[in-house]
Amino acid sequence: MGIPFIDLKSQYARIQDQVNDNIQAVLNHGRYIMGPEIQELETGLAEFAGTKHCLGCGSGTDALLLALMALGAGPGDAVFTTPFTFMATAEAIALLGATPVFVDIDPETYNLDPDKLRLAVEALEQDDPSIHPLPDVKGLTARGVIAVGLFGLSADYAAIRELCDEKGLYLIGDEAQSFGATYDGKPVTSLSDISCTSFFPAKPLGAYGDGGAVFTDSDEYHALMHSIRVHGQGTDKYDNVRLGLNARLDTLQAAILLPKLAIFPEEIELRQKVAETYNELLAGSDVVTPVVPENCVSVWAQYSVLTPSTERRSQIMEALKAADVPTAMYYPLPLHLQGAYKELGYRPGSLPVCEDVATRIFSLPMHPYLERGQQETIADIIKNA
Ligand SMILES: *Cc1c(COP(=O)(O)O)cnc(C)c1O
Repeated sequence: MGIPFIDLKSQYARIQDQVNDNIQAVLNHGRYIMGPEIQELETGLAEFAGTKHCLGCGSGTDALLLALMALGAGPGDAVFTTPFTFMATAEAIALLGATPVFVDIDPETYNLDPDKLRLAVEALEQDDPSIHPLPDVKGLTARGVIAVGLFGLSADYAAIRELCDEKGLYLIGDEAQSFGATYDGKPVTSLSDISCTSFFPAKPLGAYGDGGAVFTDSDEYHALMHSIRVHGQGTDKYDNVRLGLNARLDTLQAAILLPKLAIFPEEIELRQKVAETYNELLAGSDVVTPVVPENCVSVWAQYSVLTPSTERRSQIMEALKAADVPTAMYYPLPLHLQGAYKELGYRPGSLPVCEDVATRIFSLPMHPYLERGQQETIADIIKNA
């Protein structure tokens, strides 16, 4: 039957002429590094994101590193985040020598639970892991939070921002999956001190290779990230005033993203229809469909359903596979239980909500060009599995 998990071909068919023309224009001018398309894209992205500044960068991982480096993250710093996310979120914290402190998720939205976040900050302040599990690292100071908009749905920004302000913590938004989502009618990218996104091809706004961006209203953070993006450059490229990275966005990827950004608002609308159709078709089944709070619009990076048991998940995924319908498991093992973080000393049972969800969740094909007939087929397989 051949339903793609994410359909980039249908999208390309729509914008083929502009994409090809834009690639050709780059080949003609030859400014592959920091060509004029970069700034044109950054201006369009900042407007869309509701921020004063935007900087393109090499990936979503680079975006997180730029944000954390601009905020001075380093050894002794505790940065609170969710364990139910892609590896890069916590990896960027740990790469800089800071320590990720994992906080369990809300069982309905699968995003950081603000009540548990408060407990985790208090546990660290009082050095008391009986209040909330803490990593096995002594002498940490609470510095910041990375909120993640998992599956395209905004984090609970009002509650998280209130806590950050009260405790003097910085707030980074990892919107790699939720770029384009809104919270209280505002773009999610406008709600953190620095927001990050990824243009990995499978993200809601994807390039044809790696790419990312950072967003901020702060002139200071913007200037720092601008410098860090190119080896800590000062007044010119052979003046290096701090340590930095090579974290530039490719001109070709910027050229490809321009026509994709132009149709992105319409694609977000199409994604709403696809999600609503799934909700309707799966209403009588035994899977729990995604919960989107009243004040949020998701961009549906994934449409993920929760099954009653692990066995039931296997049964449904096998039935879909037999019918050639692709599925994915985001994420089979929460980050606090990954080998990369074993020195932090978390154990199974440390963060029970995400550990349970990880055993029962999986994602269905999701993209703006999915047809109702295909969704009916998928829903029938799930109901009959
Ligand atoms: C994809 C993703 C990233 C990393 O983005 P890359 O462009 O692959 O480096 C970071 N965080 C989340 C939540 C992601 O989904």
